[in-house]
Amino acid sequence: MHKGVRLPITCPVCNADKEHLLHLFFDCRFAENCWQSVDLKYDMREAYSVSDCLLHESAIAKYEDIVSICLVLWGIWFWRNKKVWQNQWMNHAIPMEITFKVYKEWKTARKSSVDTRAMSVNGASNLKRWQPLVSGELKLNVDASFFPGHESFSVGMVLRDQEGAFVGGNVLRYSGQQL
Ligand SMILES: [Zn+2]
Repeated sequence: MHKGVRLPITCPVCNADKEHLLHLFFDCRFAENCWQSVDLKYDMREAYSVSDCLLHESAIAKYEDIVSICLVLWGIWFWRNKKVWQNQWMNHAIPMEITFKVYKEWKTARKSSVDTRAMSVNGASNLKRWQPLVSGELKLNVDASFFPGHESFSVGMVLRDQEGAFVGGNVLRYSGQQL
């Protein structure tokens, strides 16, 4: 609107007010419910700058609250975009539940990747690391693909020399099914 582009400026979530940062993330009924679902409440009506307030809050808040603040902001924006671009909407409790579930999955995935790295640093892992070849040796990498319900499967292979340069390759198809 500032640049002269004609756009709908009504909040797409509640259709009750103009959409701006303060409204969408704090004043909107949907936002209020989202904050309530994580037991947080921020009154930004007197705030000069929402981002400054949040930065100040994150400097003094407990770690769990900072995580919640980030997730609620992310969740509100994510679900607002779902409504705008895909016309999908649901009750406030479900979006927040999904948002926190995504976070838990991300945390678990991050933890297992950190654990794997720590294990390989400590030498406790069975992971085989790539080793450079001795001159004159060749290395063959093999992979196979199976698709449920198909009567055949394929095997692909690439042969490379000690410099990693391509020497040869092949793809073979066999009859048979995945057990
Ligand atoms: Zn609204």
